[in-house]
Amino acid sequence: MNKQKALLIIKPDGVQRGLCGAILKRFEQTGLTIIGFKFLQAPEQTIRDHYPSTDVWYGKVGQRTLTNYAKKGIDVKKQFGTEDPIEIGKTVKGWLVTFFQESPVLVAAVEGHEAIEIVRKLSGNTIPILAAAGTVRGDYSHDTIDLANAQFRPLRNIIHASDSVEDGEKEVHLWFKDDEIFSYKRADEELMFPPQR
Ligand code: GDP
Repeated sequence: MNKQKALLIIKPDGVQRGLCGAILKRFEQTGLTIIGFKFLQAPEQTIRDHYPSTDVWYGKVGQRTLTNYAKKGIDVKKQFGTEDPIEIGKTVKGWLVTFFQESPVLVAAVEGHEAIEIVRKLSGNTIPILAAAGTVRGDYSHDTIDLANAQFRPLRNIIHASDSVEDGEKEVHLWFKDDEIFSYKRADEELMFPPQR
């Protein structure tokens, strides 16, 4: 079985709105195994390390704003003073570092068959207004890029979920020490995935 690890963070908006239990339930019920769990005031450096400081990541984030503004006819230069996606991405990262310290966060490491695809599917589109009904972001938020940017803050989209196998491994090890990660079998595992005879 192709087991993968993924990190989930219930961000300060989810914690402050009392959504931790309701959200975690969805990931447990789908069959993922919780292998690590903590509630903490995130250290600034951990947040900085969590979101990449690479032009690729900055560019991806900045491009999201550019695409959205082009669709809505909003002047990106007026808002950010630049049209460079990398510079916009850097600004958003600064907002994330502040936002993540607004309250404690709940961090969970989960493991399972195709865990990355599952956590992204259950979390939904990064932009809540575009996230499908039934996803965490679609059900609990209707934030938009233009509103978030105008208020100098990241999208309040409730949850972080690792978006690649490599990021899952890296993020779990960033937030958890080795002895905070557990290995055990869920009772339903054999029923769902019977061993080959
Ligand atoms: P994720 O993996 O779906 O969380 O998306 P990213 O890694 O690309 O972005 C990280 C976080 O930055 C998102 O979850 C949002 O909270 C925030 N964010 C991303 N793009 C934008 C943007 O264009 N504007 C604002 N204000 N926030 C953004």
